[in-house]
Amino acid sequence: MFRTHNCGELRLTDAGTEVTLSGWVQAGRDFGGLTFVDLRDRYGITQVVFDSDDDAPLTEQARKLGREWVIQVKGTVRERTNKNPNRPTGDVEILAREMTVLNKSKVPPFTIEDETDGGDDLRMKYRYLDLRRNPLQQNLIFRSKLALAVRSYLAGQHFLEVETPNLIKSTPEGARDFVVPSRLNEGQFYALPQSPQTFKQLLMVAGYDRYFQIVKCFRDEDLRADRQPEFTQIDCEMAFVTQEEVLNTFEGLTRHVFQELKGVDLGKFPRMQYDEAIRRFGSDKPDMRFGMELVELNEVAQNKGFNVFDSAELVVGIRVPGLADLSRKQLDALTEWVKRPQIGAKGLVYVKCNENGSYKSSVDKFFDQEALGTWAASAGATPGDLLLVLSGNDEQTRTQLGNLRLHVAQEYDMIPAGVFKPLWVVDFPLLEWDEEAERFHAMHHPFTSPKREEVDRMLTGDHETMKSLKADAYDLVINGAEIGGGSVRIFDRALQEKNFQLLGFTPEEAEAQFGFLMGAFEYGAPPHAGIAFGFDRLCAVMNGKSSIRDYIAFPKNNQGRDVMIDAPAPIDEKQLRELQLRVTVE
Ligand code: ASP
Repeated sequence: MFRTHNCGELRLTDAGTEVTLSGWVQAGRDFGGLTFVDLRDRYGITQVVFDSDDDAPLTEQARKLGREWVIQVKGTVRERTNKNPNRPTGDVEILAREMTVLNKSKVPPFTIEDETDGGDDLRMKYRYLDLRRNPLQQNLIFRSKLALAVRSYLAGQHFLEVETPNLIKSTPEGARDFVVPSRLNEGQFYALPQSPQTFKQLLMVAGYDRYFQIVKCFRDEDLRADRQPEFTQIDCEMAFVTQEEVLNTFEGLTRHVFQELKGVDLGKFPRMQYDEAIRRFGSDKPDMRFGMELVELNEVAQNKGFNVFDSAELVVGIRVPGLADLSRKQLDALTEWVKRPQIGAKGLVYVKCNENGSYKSSVDKFFDQEALGTWAASAGATPGDLLLVLSGNDEQTRTQLGNLRLHVAQEYDMIPAGVFKPLWVVDFPLLEWDEEAERFHAMHHPFTSPKREEVDRMLTGDHETMKSLKADAYDLVINGAEIGGGSVRIFDRALQEKNFQLLGFTPEEAEAQFGFLMGAFEYGAPPHAGIAFGFDRLCAVMNGKSSIRDYIAFPKNNQGRDVMIDAPAPIDEKQLRELQLRVTVE
């Protein structure tokens, strides 16, 4: 037997017991005749003591142990004289009588401690060592518990977990597909699913009523920070439900897991229409943990001779509480921040509401104290506050200011820690007009249904009408992160055909790509709706973290590479020949 106990479970009540432990050497310390070894496994750390008065040769052996060696120790549990209150096992130690080295270890390239000295690249290359560290172990333990809580809650609501295939067909909608060549079907390719969307809808047609799956999805996107080419969704679909029932069901799931894993009662989730979210926060996923809502200033700021404002569709600002004393340098940094190409603003106007009641702005030339006072009044600013103002085209400017709102809140520590603010964003537009490509994109995906009262307008309306169609599509946002998204689906062939047509598909293309789904709609498809949660993101957000990577056992790096196994990699000639592929690098 390798062990009678693990390294996290012995307590004072076990004193006197003969035990066997196995684990990794976290650290060793010599004190005269005594050698202490911290023995670690997933469950904790237990102190082992070797006493040379007791057994000199054994103690000598213990002195030679290196970090991360794997050993087995037999001995007696005894009370420690020097207790460690920070460790659950800190009241006891094992007086060793026997020790076996099960395996040696090279000196690890970074320390296996909560705070490590290893850089990102090194830790990714030795992910199995990084995973030994306690913070990462806690993350993966959390993830496992969350998955179980999700399964048990949904099973209790009569959901069935059904697996859908990973080798499917490439479609041009959405992100880029990862493709897999088929050996048996020369010149043809599978694609890895971006989501099981069409399959879960077919399961509804097949009468499964309530489906879920904790499932890997694959998207070959340019990797923005904190995106992974493969990630996990809690994917769900329900038949015979309205949007209201979907929202309630998954609000229930979310509240349950927060209660179960964090002991947090999220309460009832507020809802906000998409249009309102954009208007008030410049974002379709507003962070509700702090205020700083967008305030329209057209009326007070236009027609005062400042051409930049006068020629703008929108002048809009945020009131930043208590930041009137920002330095020139800090304000310049904010200006540079909004002028970066990722944000794309032309400039930033500020107004400091000084403590003495006067105003100081970057546009003092055009606006006197009285004029600036009306801005402050519109924004509800009081002495000590700072106004930050952008202008330009309505949509873009709101988005830019929404981004600045987040940036300022983060930069100046205005986001309260440890709070969770959920929000349903509802009534998304059905279609999004792409000015450059002169075509519509589906705002959510092509299977999303317009609101029932919009169906006639969709079937008969003109081009402009299409821009204003609203969908039964919804997102769950927590602390400004999109946690989930879904929609009520089209389940009628004619309406689905119309949607494809609006999205620029010819009838032949629509049939070739999605004929199987539209065909299924002709065999008694029930009304249905669903949602998918980003599982990795949910793990991170529940723990107040921004990086999903730390919740994935073996993630890819920013270039989409697994540097540990060194993938992607070339394949050999024989494999290429079998697949009828030839690689030419230009
Ligand atoms: N399949 C969708 C997605 O991955 C979610 C849904 O509509 O259920 O975003």
